[in-house]
Amino acid sequence: MDRRTIGILGGGQLGRMLVEAAHRLNLRTTILDADNSPAKQINALSSHVTGSFSSSADILELSKACDILTTEIEHVDTNILETIEKEGKVDVQPSSQTIRIIQDKYLQKEFLLKNGVAVAESRSIDSPSVEALEKVGADFGYPFMLKSRTLAYDGRGNYVVWSKDTIPQALEALSNRPLYAEKWAAFTMELAVMVVKTRSGKTLSYPTVETIHENNICKLVYMPARTTLSARTRAQKLAEDAIKHFPGAGIFGVEMFLLKNDNILVNEIAPRPHNSGHHTIETHSTSQFEAHIRAIIDLPLPPSITSPRTPSTSSIMLNILGGPQPDSHLPLCKLALETPGSTLHLYGKTEARPGRKMGHITVVADGITNCETLIAPLVRAATYTSP
Ligand code: ATP
Ligand code: MG
Ligand code: MG
Repeated sequence: MDRRTIGILGGGQLGRMLVEAAHRLNLRTTILDADNSPAKQINALSSHVTGSFSSSADILELSKACDILTTEIEHVDTNILETIEKEGKVDVQPSSQTIRIIQDKYLQKEFLLKNGVAVAESRSIDSPSVEALEKVGADFGYPFMLKSRTLAYDGRGNYVVWSKDTIPQALEALSNRPLYAEKWAAFTMELAVMVVKTRSGKTLSYPTVETIHENNICKLVYMPARTTLSARTRAQKLAEDAIKHFPGAGIFGVEMFLLKNDNILVNEIAPRPHNSGHHTIETHSTSQFEAHIRAIIDLPLPPSITSPRTPSTSSIMLNILGGPQPDSHLPLCKLALETPGSTLHLYGKTEARPGRKMGHITVVADGITNCETLIAPLVRAATYTSP
């Protein structure tokens, strides 16, 4: 479909699923990450770069082996990406500027606010101290969220400040990290929308999903979200409005809070494929991964790509996390193979640490109620008992 080589910063599960989508279209990908990373395991077409997406030298090396550079993670060195972009030989998508804004969650909030996108009120904490946080508590009320501005994922970087007494623990937990505080969002549901942005700046969005987190890690994703059509439609509009402002093409994950008063706020944005869009592999003819590839190399993206296979196609995705033993998750995987309508994805991670994302299961059926019935035994099996 295209002779150009796509370089991917990061070779985790998202990179792996990008490679799967690219291969099906005869597109060449090359990966920067550690040897034998999940994406490299399934890609023998290219010589890959061994190294890290946070090293400028390694990114430069990858840029010499590709025509288009994209990313599966936002925690990359954006200075070198900008240099590569300015040089003009390699096309960086989405733009380094987009990744730079998004990778600092406070800059991201300020950017969204400036562009009229609703977010939780936030305040930068430039000199962290008990006094500074007591001032936040007095202004925001308790609880509030203390968050690391950078390198956050799966809630690692967040601390709930329940009361004045929790402040010292919060400062201790997030010491040596750049911080900001966020007003508590009393949400009734967490929503997410995958938005595709084309080279010409057009946006398309997949249906609004509901995400359920446990210990700050996404556990389940319901498609469609079990809320009103009005809330789902407003979430899609908010997500598309937010993404319009970020330069560059590709897929974006927009996490949102549905509040008690029915208002919706953006929580955060990912400039890449996202856990809340994994179900699209089975529920849509064009997955979030293929949509990303098509967007960055300018292949057709008709509006129909975001419609589920049938109007009643519904799904529930369950993440497979590592448990107390290296093989704690295997009975769950076997049960998935016995479950009608379910598809098992394993990521090829050699070590299963507690809470590590090892794979996911998507159950597809007509209507969410049927999905709930099918997923129930799998959810039970996902609660591992220690031997
Ligand atoms: P991810 O793995 O999605 O990148 P992260 O580490 O960047 O996660 P956030 O998305 O900021 O973390 O927060 C993780 C979860 O914590 C949210 O999905 C939500 O459940 C809760 N949370 C975050 N911010 C707030 C808030 N302001 N008020 C209430 N709950 C919040
Ligand atoms: Mg995040
Ligand atoms: Mg998040």
